[in-house]
Amino acid sequence: MNIDNIYIQDISALYNNIMNINILRADLFDSLVSGNKWFKLQFYVRDAMAAGKTTLATFGGPYSNHIIATAKYGASMGLNTVGFIRGEKPTTLSPTLTDAIQYGMTLYFVSREDFEQTEKIIAENQDPNWAWIPEGGYGITGAEGAKSMLTIKDTSSYDTIICAVGTGTMMAGLIKAAAPHQKVIGLSILKNNISIDAAIKALLTKEEANKNFEMIHDYHFGGYAKHKPALIDFMNECYKKMELPLDFVYTAKLMYGVRDLATKGKFEPSSKILVIHSGGLQGNRSFKKGTLRF
Ligand SMILES: *Cc1c(COP(=O)(O)O)cnc(C)c1O
Repeated sequence: MNIDNIYIQDISALYNNIMNINILRADLFDSLVSGNKWFKLQFYVRDAMAAGKTTLATFGGPYSNHIIATAKYGASMGLNTVGFIRGEKPTTLSPTLTDAIQYGMTLYFVSREDFEQTEKIIAENQDPNWAWIPEGGYGITGAEGAKSMLTIKDTSSYDTIICAVGTGTMMAGLIKAAAPHQKVIGLSILKNNISIDAAIKALLTKEEANKNFEMIHDYHFGGYAKHKPALIDFMNECYKKMELPLDFVYTAKLMYGVRDLATKGKFEPSSKILVIHSGGLQGNRSFKKGTLRF
């Protein structure tokens, strides 16, 4: 885990120099605690420790970037971690969950129906030593942490900042941190996620909610973690051309969407664009070997 690994890469050539586009390589922070997850977790962990809690408890799916990030980051801070995992326990654990156990996380498998009832899980597992973190780090605490994604490097010269959106916590943080001349664009990777606008607004003050931002819903490729051959081809192309590894759940859809938007004239030719590489590469381990060229 090293914040100094993060840098800004010029990837204009990837799009044949039709626009001036750079990418914040937050994926390089760590191979497991990657991209936005450490940023979103940092103040949850700080608050938990300040309150004298010994254990972080949270939720996620079997390939969740948030689960593995909580496990590894929690362990590095000397905290115990507990993960409530969506779905029955499989006969073979995913690499993500195997790693989470490796970092000391205790896993509880919860049926899909029960998993939706977060409040009930919390009520049934009351422990004064536990600090609960919402799934995906969603919350104002998470968004406040995500703000620093725009300040670890000088990002003032960009007028457009584009990111992938799951819970919207990172995007809310970017909106909070954005300067008046900057617009934040989010590409939702969930299908028909109409509640996402309200979910983001709930993390913003009234003034922040009046800042310049936009949500785009056209690049989910069929829904969460769904993909098509064109997306896989695109991922291999990005790696071959720019040594840019992408994850298929978030950042590949983001980068594909940005190219499509560019060809449709979405951006001014003079625009300076910064896309956020929010990490998630460990999730590519769900692919059969050989699917990806990296
Ligand atoms: C979790 C995640 C996101 C989505 O972040 P939200 O704050 O939930 O919107 C985007 N990209 C990657 C790689 C992620 O792991």
